[in-house]
Amino acid sequence: MTAATHFRTCHLCEAMCGLAIDVEAGAITSIRGDAADPFSKGHLCPKAVALKDLHEDPDRLKRPLRRTAAGFVEIGWDEAFDEVGRRLSEIRAAHGDDALGVYQGNPTAHNLGTLLHGQIVLRTLGTRNLFSATSVDQLPHMLASLLVLGHQAMLPVPDLDRTELLVIFGANPAVSNGSIMTAGGAMRRLGEIRARGGRVIVLDPRRTETAARADEHHFVVPGTDALVMLALLHVIFADGLARPGRLAPHLRGLGPLRALAARFAPERVAEACGMSAGALRALARTIASTPRAAIYGRVGVSLQTFGALSCWLLLALNVVTGNLDEPGGMMFTRPAVDLVPNAARAGLRGTFGRFRSRVRGLPEFGGELPVAALAEEIEVPGDGRVRALITSCGNPVLSTPNGPRLSRALDRLDFMVAIDVYLNETTRHAHVILPPTFGVEHEHYDVLLHAVAVRNGAKWSEALFARGEHQRHDWEIFRELHRRLRPRGALEHVTHAARQALLALPPARMLDGALRLGPYGDRYLGGARLSLARLRAAPHGLDLGPLEPALPERLYADDRRIDLAPSLMLADVARLESTLLGGARVNPARELRLIGRRQLRNNNRWMHNAPRLVKGRDRCTLQIHPDDARARGLADGARVRVTSAKGAIEVPIEVDDAMMRGVVSLPHGFGHDRDGARLQVAATHAKGASLNDLTDEERVDALSGVADFAGVAVTVQNVEARAAE
Ligand code: SF4
Repeated sequence: MTAATHFRTCHLCEAMCGLAIDVEAGAITSIRGDAADPFSKGHLCPKAVALKDLHEDPDRLKRPLRRTAAGFVEIGWDEAFDEVGRRLSEIRAAHGDDALGVYQGNPTAHNLGTLLHGQIVLRTLGTRNLFSATSVDQLPHMLASLLVLGHQAMLPVPDLDRTELLVIFGANPAVSNGSIMTAGGAMRRLGEIRARGGRVIVLDPRRTETAARADEHHFVVPGTDALVMLALLHVIFADGLARPGRLAPHLRGLGPLRALAARFAPERVAEACGMSAGALRALARTIASTPRAAIYGRVGVSLQTFGALSCWLLLALNVVTGNLDEPGGMMFTRPAVDLVPNAARAGLRGTFGRFRSRVRGLPEFGGELPVAALAEEIEVPGDGRVRALITSCGNPVLSTPNGPRLSRALDRLDFMVAIDVYLNETTRHAHVILPPTFGVEHEHYDVLLHAVAVRNGAKWSEALFARGEHQRHDWEIFRELHRRLRPRGALEHVTHAARQALLALPPARMLDGALRLGPYGDRYLGGARLSLARLRAAPHGLDLGPLEPALPERLYADDRRIDLAPSLMLADVARLESTLLGGARVNPARELRLIGRRQLRNNNRWMHNAPRLVKGRDRCTLQIHPDDARARGLADGARVRVTSAKGAIEVPIEVDDAMMRGVVSLPHGFGHDRDGARLQVAATHAKGASLNDLTDEERVDALSGVADFAGVAVTVQNVEARAAE
């Protein structure tokens, strides 16, 4: 039997770790970190090893399924495409383009075919009812970049390898491995900051796994990060520490920002945010006095009532302290496939508020509506109601607020098709499921993640196993849907035939063209253009150097300036003040604030069907501070009923002083107890309860429309005590 080692990038999360996969007789025998990968240098996490479980998972779908009265049955691809094409076309013909809805999940970013061919098809259907995981994730970061830097995809990343101070708001790279900060081996890199004399400071309502390994940790009340940032700016301006440096001539709005910050002295916000005025002043001075500092935030700042304000102020802090676009600060990549300048040249910089959702009036962003509005857009009668839904690699019943309501709404659809490899809590509602190939069965290149990596680089991964005769790649599925649906929305100036010809190109051909046209096309390797052939000859990937200053060349506002005081943001500050400083407070004796938490052994809402990731103790626990547990008569391990305005679940508690008093935490992605799903391992060993049975689809950031997951008010009660009542 021939044994071989296959090198590829792990596609499971944002870290882009290089893997060395040993194969013998058509089976994976081991998965290791690839020490020769210049980016991740051998790092991997337990999820990568579970790629073998996922590849061999008997629950993974390989042929189309149709839902019948007797359950799901396998059907042929032609039959499936016929049914999908016919039903979607009928509904669109009878009720208009907006009757089709689309939901795209987070794995879109990790699958080349879905990213290229999928967008050409799904984004040109002509419907306004496009939804995705963006509005339960990074949307406010993108909105801030659009308003401040002029392009929604200009997302700065911490220059981890050169910084002397990393300040982290609401992120936990020890378990997430980095997000909008692609950094294979993120914790090794954080360790190196400290080893070279630098510091890591974490602000979070929970002393996270990252905070436990940092120099400082400050508890912050969920949803109050914008107050913290305004107080930091207040001190920086008041103490004369503002130093925008090289970018000073390219700023506008510095005066209004200074005037705004003057109203937020640390003493004014301390009680609301949970940090003392002294700690806020000390932190501001530490940031301002460190030559190379990166102030970084992730879902803790974006998924909350003031997500847009927080992300704007995060950018502003980096600019005002001279840390934006400087080595060791927050920088921009120069990826081999460089979409931003090409898009900007075509006039595509991003959009916000061009239209609003039909029922609640939530704003469009980047051509999509907030997914918090999806259930009502299906339920409420009228023109433009979503009657048919296409989901692609997503499980919104577990990943979006008030999953039970969405689950009921999905049952009201006239037709639903899911492009997915699992029969899960969402796809069980579909009439037809079209399963693409998965992971090692297809080629891979991280178009999006190289654009938010802490070093410039490029790596191509060949398919390890050829697809079976009975399987289809994602791009083949999208090409076929396009042929049958004949989209007539955006890009209508491009003929159907031309688009069909484009979709006939496999992802590798499209990528090759993009690489040759990219920034390394001319200068790399002594004039030889970077191409797919060049990447194929470098199975461990290519290092394209450290991040380099990109501004002011890459400022995309009409006046080519950085806007430190966008009018939309300034107008939203009154809401911040009235909500957080207006006097109303959660009473911790009665209610607690619920936050989510990510875990190393899962990936947002999936991967619970991999046996090696779910073995061991129950990880779906509610973490609670000892004082809050004592006040409710709860002992460690007690089973509690957690009740919010939207629902109730039962879980065991974990008493842990890593929690801020008044705050409780529940992991994402559990709740595998729904009838009709086919996730045998998850249902047996990782059932748990879904955080989104408690979250509230009506709680959104009024400015951006992003869902608010930070600090949902809940009561916690011992199950036995409740039964005795
Ligand atoms: S950290 Fe992410 S990319 Fe790296 S091995 Fe784990 S899942 Fe894969």
